[in-house]
Amino acid sequence: MADMWHPEKSDDGILRVTIDRKDRPVSALSRSMMEELRELVQSIKSDSSIRGVLFQSGKPGVFIAGADITEFENLTDKAAAEEVSAFGQGVFQELENLKVPTVALISGACLGGGLEFALACRYRVASTHEKTKLGLPEVQLGLLPGWGGTVRLPRQIGLIDALPLVLSGRQLGGFQARSKGVVHEVVPIEALASVGEKIIRTHHEFGSASKLFSRSKKPGWQKFLEGTTFAKKFALKKARQEVMSKTHGHYPAPLQIIETFEKGLSADGKRQFRIESDGISKLAANPVTRECIRLFFLSEEAKKPPKELEATFHAKGLKRAAVVGAGAMGAGIALLLARKGIATRLNDIKPEFVARGVKTVRDLLGKDTKRKKLTKRQAEEIFDRLSPATDYRGLNNADVVIEAVVEVTDVKRQVFAELAEATNPQTVLATNTSSLLVSEIARDVPHPERVVGLHFFNPPHQMPLVEVIRTDQTSDEALAKAFAVVQRLGKTPVVVGDCAGFLVNRLLGPYMNEAGFLLAEVADPMEIDKAAVDFGMPMGPLALSDLVGLDVAAHVADNLYQAYGERMKPASIWGALKQLREKLGSQPKLLAKDGRSVQESVLRCITGLRKSSGSTTGTQLSREAIAQRLVFPVINEAAICLAEGVARRPEDIDLAMVFGTGFAPFRGGPLRYAESIGLQSVVDGLDQLAKTYSHLAPSDALRKFARSGTFTGDSNGHGDAVSHDSGEASRAAG
Ligand code: NAD
Repeated sequence: MADMWHPEKSDDGILRVTIDRKDRPVSALSRSMMEELRELVQSIKSDSSIRGVLFQSGKPGVFIAGADITEFENLTDKAAAEEVSAFGQGVFQELENLKVPTVALISGACLGGGLEFALACRYRVASTHEKTKLGLPEVQLGLLPGWGGTVRLPRQIGLIDALPLVLSGRQLGGFQARSKGVVHEVVPIEALASVGEKIIRTHHEFGSASKLFSRSKKPGWQKFLEGTTFAKKFALKKARQEVMSKTHGHYPAPLQIIETFEKGLSADGKRQFRIESDGISKLAANPVTRECIRLFFLSEEAKKPPKELEATFHAKGLKRAAVVGAGAMGAGIALLLARKGIATRLNDIKPEFVARGVKTVRDLLGKDTKRKKLTKRQAEEIFDRLSPATDYRGLNNADVVIEAVVEVTDVKRQVFAELAEATNPQTVLATNTSSLLVSEIARDVPHPERVVGLHFFNPPHQMPLVEVIRTDQTSDEALAKAFAVVQRLGKTPVVVGDCAGFLVNRLLGPYMNEAGFLLAEVADPMEIDKAAVDFGMPMGPLALSDLVGLDVAAHVADNLYQAYGERMKPASIWGALKQLREKLGSQPKLLAKDGRSVQESVLRCITGLRKSSGSTTGTQLSREAIAQRLVFPVINEAAICLAEGVARRPEDIDLAMVFGTGFAPFRGGPLRYAESIGLQSVVDGLDQLAKTYSHLAPSDALRKFARSGTFTGDSNGHGDAVSHDSGEASRAAG
């Protein structure tokens, strides 16, 4: 039975509707919730004593989180999607047609269908609360807003401002929503109800409440220009170019959004809604959309603590934390903690190093206030939760300490030995190491069961993934608490085993290394990056190597070679570049500044290597062949990780690679991709390559998986947990 809209009429004729879906922790719009809304709208229409309606959420932190995505799983055929869209449009149309003023009092997440609902209300007021977020993120699921969002948002704020919001799925805070014109007013949460009442009173008095709202800051001439068909067409053309250059046409949703806006230009209201329904129905049946939706479900599933854990820890129970090492990573992690209301100690060896970390935090907060993501007061509150220190006094109160000092085993061991003394036995000690074994760092800790790895990616405030590393000794209690930290920070946790490179860097290693082999081999080395981007990577491996820096890349490569031997043997080019580095005194970049060619000095290294192998011009390889060379070794290594139990299930690998490295999301991750082309074809491809490159021979693990045709089964006895968990995840993901 539907149970989400709770109306209460008072003597002043105002109907106060509390939005609170009783069967879920968040209010999401399922079919039955929409039917209940339709009935409510009908009853409002037929009750002449109602003078106005206020919609307010009964759930803290959420207004309406969006449409109920679990129902999207069934939307695989065009007709079903079109019907769902038309039905929702109809309900919101009836809401919009109500004669009495309707006001959405928005605090918390107001996304997707939630914002489309609010746009159908006559007035919208947002709260200044940090959790208030408004947006139409459907594009991230491979869809477009299908309940009138593509019609009402441009109507409200103009096509030129609406288009980038819908194309990016960007979420706006209350102030940002106000300055874009998505809401009429922004007020503190306590004032929402009284402002809503005032809007209704004023509306009745003057026929509109617009006199209450400050005027748009946009000059009239600009508004006029933006309203011209010429300007709109120009914006659409530019948007299409940008989408193509960013996505290379791999994603149909942004292109469909542009088409929907474009067709809507010359259509009347009714027809605009039909164009929208038509657009979403085309997307719903698209395989790319299915992959995007699957990834969404995987990330939701990943946020639930692993079933096999005996212990649980509620994320809300985290009160105090410390970060040791106030460098780039430490400062970023401390900010994340403080933002989530956790009192955070930021420690470094010298006051000036702590001060540098504190400045990093201040600068990042400053950016957020400038972009109106935070008010100055909110930023100050966050900043006040941070306490700088150069000693460990008071750490015995901490629930968790995250170490982010320099990547040197002895230094980290020393820090952990000191932390073990300074903290209480329940404090979880986590390391953010990127390449050392967590068990090695924990070696001198009297109770190594409370040590875990929390591998954040750089920059921590932007990257969504955190690898949670469990050693053989880590207790369930410690793992549960570490997991809760990641949940509280709103990141996606993936639990992985303690091995060189953990999961993501271990899988990225062979990819980067193969780029090194190809660099010395391919006639035009720029084809390597082009092949990777064509495949769907966010950037090519050469550009990525320049981004992380050759020194770091070389360090990771050495580390992986030592741990895994021949299949990770570094390509000779890395040795040649090391020599070049010594000659130059600084690490060379592979690509020229404009990113369009390889540096002269690097080309000379390549020529040197080619001479020694007898080929001077290099070989011509198709982009497809290059992409295979880059990606098949990743699949091979992933199969080994799965068989070894480093990853608990294939879905974790896909998620970690998409969220940690940007691995072609529309392909669903490396294992999903491998299954889509057939595991045997990957084995055959690697067998063929191994005739020339012995390090590319397929592993026994991959061969075993290939025999069963899927990664979901058992490969060597670790399979029980693997196959059971995978089944659960794939059911959730559809
Ligand atoms: P960084 O050099 O920017 O910062 C390290 C900080 O640790 C410095 O401020 C230093 O003064 C401090 N420090 C050194 N010894 C200390 C001690 N005994 N007590 C307290 N502070 C001490 O390094 P970073 O890039 O922030 O990396 C920190 C850790 O995070 C490393 O383990 C690194 O491998 C890992 N990591 C880095 C990245 C990255 O891209 N930078 C990504 C993931 C993980």
